[in-house]
Amino acid sequence: MSHQNLESLDVGAIRDEFPILQREFDGQQVVYLDNAATTQTPDQVVDAMSDYYRGYNANVHRGIHHLSQEASIAYEEAHDRVAEFIGADGREEVIFTKNTTEAENLIAYSWGLNELGPDDDVVLTEMEHHASLVTWQQIAKRAGADVKYIRVTSDGRLDMDHARELITDDTAMISAVHVSNTLGTVNPVSELVDIAHDHDALAFIDGAQAVPNRPVDVGALDADFYAFSGHKMAGPTGIGVLYGKQDLLEDMHPYLYGGDMITKVTYEDSTWNELPWKFEAGTPQIAEAVGLVAAIDWLEEIGMDRIRVHEEEIARYAYEQLAAEPDVEIYGPEPGPERGGLVGFNLESVHAHDLASIMNDHAVAIRAGDHCTQPLHDKLGVAASARASFYVYNTKEEVDKLVAAIDDARQLFA
Ligand code: PMP
Repeated sequence: MSHQNLESLDVGAIRDEFPILQREFDGQQVVYLDNAATTQTPDQVVDAMSDYYRGYNANVHRGIHHLSQEASIAYEEAHDRVAEFIGADGREEVIFTKNTTEAENLIAYSWGLNELGPDDDVVLTEMEHHASLVTWQQIAKRAGADVKYIRVTSDGRLDMDHARELITDDTAMISAVHVSNTLGTVNPVSELVDIAHDHDALAFIDGAQAVPNRPVDVGALDADFYAFSGHKMAGPTGIGVLYGKQDLLEDMHPYLYGGDMITKVTYEDSTWNELPWKFEAGTPQIAEAVGLVAAIDWLEEIGMDRIRVHEEEIARYAYEQLAAEPDVEIYGPEPGPERGGLVGFNLESVHAHDLASIMNDHAVAIRAGDHCTQPLHDKLGVAASARASFYVYNTKEEVDKLVAAIDDARQLFA
């Protein structure tokens, strides 16, 4: 279907493209508010992947036959489509990975292990996802480098004075989350990139919660590396994207060795293929790349700005409803441009896991736990939090069901 001619978002029509949203549990229609973990996949994406398997499934790069040629073109051109979507200069700067986590590891192993030393600092934020935090922590340990953390303020923002203090000429790399998956904070990543560059440090931005929900232009941002996952943006699981500036990627060692990433191999040595294939060893995620392109087409048809506005509106409504409950504590900034489409919270005297379980009795799907930010939860003084996260197909009526389930939980545990 076309969304182009809609004045504002026709959420009803959008929902029709997701049969899964019609599912019922115990006679109640599912309310899917776990989008920061994984978004649902519209028919258009499922159909594109099904067309691939039914019509032109074959291995890429090496085939002379028609099917391999068709698969190769689709796979290779998927890099061009992603480059265009995020404002990269071309396919050389777009590497397909398994997910955001693998993209972080690729840079940490390939660049970090070779470039970091005992005189270097890696600067992270206190709100990093484990994908970035654990990766840099462990690689820095092996390289003998120090890891420093930019403080999070009591209202869930980055302390930018502290950032300016921590990022110095000793800093070799900063890694910062664009939108926090726990606090919902939209970080001033452009400012962070500029501070890093002022000190000749590189900047990696984790865009797992940003690219699905707002326009992102990596060229304008000037980040050296940027990563995100297909499964959080209406696309399939199993594919993520690492953007990197071409000159930096050219200078880096491969991360994985094997077929397709080489040019010439002898018993003694090997040379590497051109970008991006140098970083894509073995048979890649061909169907997933086809699905990711379909997801990008689908998102752009709606418009990334309209998606951002819709999510901000739903998040604002959820924040206001939850803030009106006297025994609900909400984490992160007030609604507005500094908050993305998710709300993390706790209900006094009910453990987040119990709350999620009662929500499930109402067919309301939320997430409870540490959301892969254990140190941040320690800082917040809680072991776990509940998180409702929204996407383009969510409605205010669904938020009302979330709040009704909270009332039920309170009564059960009173
Ligand atoms: N960073 C952030 C901010 C995330 O929210 C997530 C997913 N929860 C990740 C990284 C990791 O993404 P993936 O599991 O797809 O590698």
